[in-house]
Amino acid sequence: MTRGICILGATGSIGKSTLDVLSRHSDAFRVVALTGNHRVAEMLALCKIHQPEQVVMAAADAAQQLRVLLRDAGLKQINVESGPEALADVARMDGVDEVMAAIVGAAGLLPTLAAVEAGKKVYLANKECLVMAGKLFMDRVRACQVTLLPIDSEHNAVFQCFADGRGVRRILLTASGGPFRTWPLERLAGVTPDQACAHPNWVMGRKISVDSATMMNKGLEVIEAHWLFNLPAEQIDVLIHPQSIIHSMVEYVDGSVLAQLGNPDMRTPIAHALAYPERIESGVSSLDLAKTTDLQFEAPDLQRFPCLALAFSALKAGGAAATVLNAANEVAVQAFLDEALPFARIAAVVENTLAELQPATPDELDAVLAIDQQARVIAGKHLRRYAESALA
Ligand code: NAD
Ligand code: MG
Repeated sequence: MTRGICILGATGSIGKSTLDVLSRHSDAFRVVALTGNHRVAEMLALCKIHQPEQVVMAAADAAQQLRVLLRDAGLKQINVESGPEALADVARMDGVDEVMAAIVGAAGLLPTLAAVEAGKKVYLANKECLVMAGKLFMDRVRACQVTLLPIDSEHNAVFQCFADGRGVRRILLTASGGPFRTWPLERLAGVTPDQACAHPNWVMGRKISVDSATMMNKGLEVIEAHWLFNLPAEQIDVLIHPQSIIHSMVEYVDGSVLAQLGNPDMRTPIAHALAYPERIESGVSSLDLAKTTDLQFEAPDLQRFPCLALAFSALKAGGAAATVLNAANEVAVQAFLDEALPFARIAAVVENTLAELQPATPDELDAVLAIDQQARVIAGKHLRRYAESALA
């Protein structure tokens, strides 16, 4: 029996790496459903290769264009839907056993929750889900008794080293430090989106690439680790390791430190999760440690990376601070990518939004979504203030 897979965010970097691993194991997996946003040509190419039953494009015009192209390509049996409801429906579809949650940002929350509630096994790449709604999300995972496996390379590494969690003193999330780790601070003001997206070790989507450059990505991962491994902020440390060979570590009370190593290629954690507890080939080449002579480590500089400090304080503050942090960061990063906000101002937008909005702990999904929206409005106001002061 093959296992039916739905990939939420199939046209993205994680989506494509997942399809690469799946195509090496077509005896075990069936690609049942794929989703994208508006990249029609890329989805058409994926449909020709993987021939899913169902496709969802978040944007309605993209869905319509894709229907026409599929018909012209002789693939009219592939059904195409659009919109947020369809994204959630595809995650619950009969014939889908397992869901790769690889949409970027808050847009991934509802479809991923739909997969959980439908009892599907979930592979989680979409860390923003947990940052935005960690308690609620994990409560549903437990209530629905679904298996949730981490795809983020650090969390997958910790999972591989964690055993049953007995005797863990702390976890050490490694971070490359991004492209600007050694740049003089005054040069950061003039950084362009393309410079920020040129990550030294990983090829990723643009939002996570900017998050890596500010180290907000590591901050989001600290919060993600808190929820996945049930550890307080005090037991989660961040260590800069520019080579990205050690993907994270777990330290035990007896002083043992277990690490997971490998070439920086997301197909390793994806294959690990897809096969768990077995192991399958991922297409990733062997790690040649003899050629990897230099493994460096350093403590993160919180002055250079204020976003990391903001994420730690949001986790410690609890309540809805992480929801606010995530939403404000999404708004600020998009503005930076649109060249409407300088790189060095991303942290200020997040910090000002956090200072202005301190809602009570949300106890249900609608409250989380309302706080997310409120934070976006406030972050937008800070963007406009910046634009006005830049013009003045
Ligand atoms: P990406 O930008 O390459 O792809 C994002 C995917 O989400 C695309 O398929 C896009 O069509 C879809 N999408 C975007 N906005 C959407 C919307 N509003 N509605 C529906 N679909 C939408 O991003 P990525 O690098 O693949 O990252 C995906 C997720 O995985 C992120 O949460 C990221 O933090 C996480 N992640 C990525 C990597 C990596 O190496 N790329 C590593 C660890 C974790
Ligand atoms: Mg990561």
